[in-house]
Amino acid sequence: MKIAKCTGCSRHIHIYVKDDGLCPFCKKMLPSDGGVNVQFAEPLSHLNESIEKIDDAISLSQYGNALSEIDNTLEWAPSNSEIYWRKLLAVRQCKTDKELLKTGNITSASAFECAEKYADEQQKNVYLLIRRTEDQFTQLLFKTLSEHELDKKRNTCVETTVDEYNNKFNLIEKKLKENITRLEDVEKSLHEYTIDCTAIAEEFKSSIEHLLESTDIISKKHRKEILFEEKNAWTSKLKFLSEQSNTEYNQLIQLTSTQPQFFEYSRLQNMQKSIIKEITQSISEIITMHNNLENLKMEIDKLAKEYDEAKMALHNGDYTKTIFLLSQELFDQILTEAMSVE
Ligand SMILES: [Zn+2]
Repeated sequence: MKIAKCTGCSRHIHIYVKDDGLCPFCKKMLPSDGGVNVQFAEPLSHLNESIEKIDDAISLSQYGNALSEIDNTLEWAPSNSEIYWRKLLAVRQCKTDKELLKTGNITSASAFECAEKYADEQQKNVYLLIRRTEDQFTQLLFKTLSEHELDKKRNTCVETTVDEYNNKFNLIEKKLKENITRLEDVEKSLHEYTIDCTAIAEEFKSSIEHLLESTDIISKKHRKEILFEEKNAWTSKLKFLSEQSNTEYNQLIQLTSTQPQFFEYSRLQNMQKSIIKEITQSISEIITMHNNLENLKMEIDKLAKEYDEAKMALHNGDYTKTIFLLSQELFDQILTEAMSVE
């Protein structure tokens, strides 16, 4: 690993043996002989060999070996920035800066802090670039997560469903309000007709009662007090009263089917029943819609929770949930995008 100034973007970057010879940030070709490595002067020049060993171990993924060599080297050179950088690589089991950036929260790692603390100007430039790139990367991940969350919520058809439900609900509500007003009117009229009809029925009832009473008196007299010669007169009077009572009774029966008041009363009663049925129907439709919306809401809440958890983890430098939601491919693309920002 060396530090080189990229001829493409003019920035100081780390170059690695395993790199493809291109600047990982601007993708321009790097000078093949460019770059400077950590160089220890006498009496620590033997450490230059250690650095070679560390770099070899890292490039062969022998991170354990690299770490023991690093710890050994740090005992002799405890304030060498680039050895701390190698420690960060070995601890995170990475070979390059790009791989490191995928592990998350590198700038708050203690090895990074030490690397920054002992850095010279060139090294500071490299770490500053890493810092900016990590910031850019997490910002882009947050943005992409939010966009994905919105897309997934849209895929539940929530917008169309809610729109549809709102329209349907408005229609039902309108109908319901109309029906309630109609019902109030019908019940008010029914009440008035009840009074009218009762008054008419009462009139008939009292006249029938009066007739029956008279008939009763006459029939009692007939038995006990009526003289024989009076019999015919009383019999015909009784017969007349009986007939009159019958007539009144028949008129009352007829009244319920022919009188406009009774007819209207019965029409209103039927209307009342049908309005109540419509109101019941509307209420049950609203309950069904409400249940469907509740289910949709649960689905969306579940989605929101998943993305909230991913964002929270992302904030703490843990990319696992983000990768799960966005896919490894998209995650890698976003890193490339973050690194290409000037
Ligand atoms: Zn470059």
